[in-house]
Amino acid sequence: MLPDRTSEFRLIEWFRAAISASPRVLTGIGDDTAVVERPNGPVLLAADMLLEGVHFDLASSTPFQVGRKSLGVNLSDVAAMAGQPRYALVSLALSRRLSHEEQTRFSQQLFKGLHSMSTQFDTIIVGGDTTSWDGPVVINVAVAGEVPTGAAVTRSGAEPGDWIFVTGSLGGSIEGHHLDFIPRVHEALALRAACNLHAMIDISDGLVADLYHIAEESDVGACLDETAIPISKAAASIHDDRSSLEHALGDGEDFELLFTVSPHDGQRLLASNPLQIPLSRIGEIVAGDSCRLRDSSGTETPLPRLGWSHLVG
Ligand code: ADP
Ligand code: MG
Repeated sequence: MLPDRTSEFRLIEWFRAAISASPRVLTGIGDDTAVVERPNGPVLLAADMLLEGVHFDLASSTPFQVGRKSLGVNLSDVAAMAGQPRYALVSLALSRRLSHEEQTRFSQQLFKGLHSMSTQFDTIIVGGDTTSWDGPVVINVAVAGEVPTGAAVTRSGAEPGDWIFVTGSLGGSIEGHHLDFIPRVHEALALRAACNLHAMIDISDGLVADLYHIAEESDVGACLDETAIPISKAAASIHDDRSSLEHALGDGEDFELLFTVSPHDGQRLLASNPLQIPLSRIGEIVAGDSCRLRDSSGTETPLPRLGWSHLVG
């Protein structure tokens, strides 16, 4: 027997009504596919899936926050390539463990979160899929973005001698930032205009883990200055068996940009920060394949990719 889809159709109609028309979208929600204006140049494509109970939990986050986050993580990926996100597809598996009214309320709040994030970054939700099952809520968001030819910044362009920078401050995102972050889309575009970005990534796994992604893809090593790591207030306020520095190095979901530039561009960025948020020079790229942490006396300690927190300090 086919599931009764009446409520899904009603929900989709509600989504459709909430989205305003745009000249970039020739056919939006309501047909078999969306039809959108093609950007000039390459298309950036990314998708991220969020699972209730794994990536979010409805006891500690609102559906609105989950909606913002599920699109925000994708926008952060497009930002990390120095692109402008343009279109999003939202696929939802709702949970029949919720009553019909709860499902409707949940999906409308979720959609309001998605919509607020999309309008903030000039991205349009052009379609998706809505279904329900007996399991937990699953949200998959796919995005398309644009970037001028040759301007996408990959993880693989770091060179020995490059200076390493990070936006904002790091660590302790579990205290709330992971639900409340601003994807660094505007910052990435401003950086692209201000300098020649060699390699870039958004920090989702944690500073050290994501630094290793750049190091491995670029076939280089790195040395970080312990005293230069910008530690967030949240990380500084956590009192557990790890130092605030360890939180800044290891915690995930900062969604800040980690990038490398030539020393010449690095000096220019330090002389005049083109961003409205702090920018920190935290170290440099070196030849080889090891990532290390330098303390204030100049002593270097290896930064193991995993389990580093037991070895540092
Ligand atoms: P089809 O059966 O042809 O795939 P659907 O009934 O799944 O069509 O979807 C109808 C329309 O609603 C499509 O345009 C689809 O992209 C859109 N849609 C469905 N679910 C969502 C959603 N969660 N968010 C945005 N658009 C959606
Ligand atoms: Mg469908």
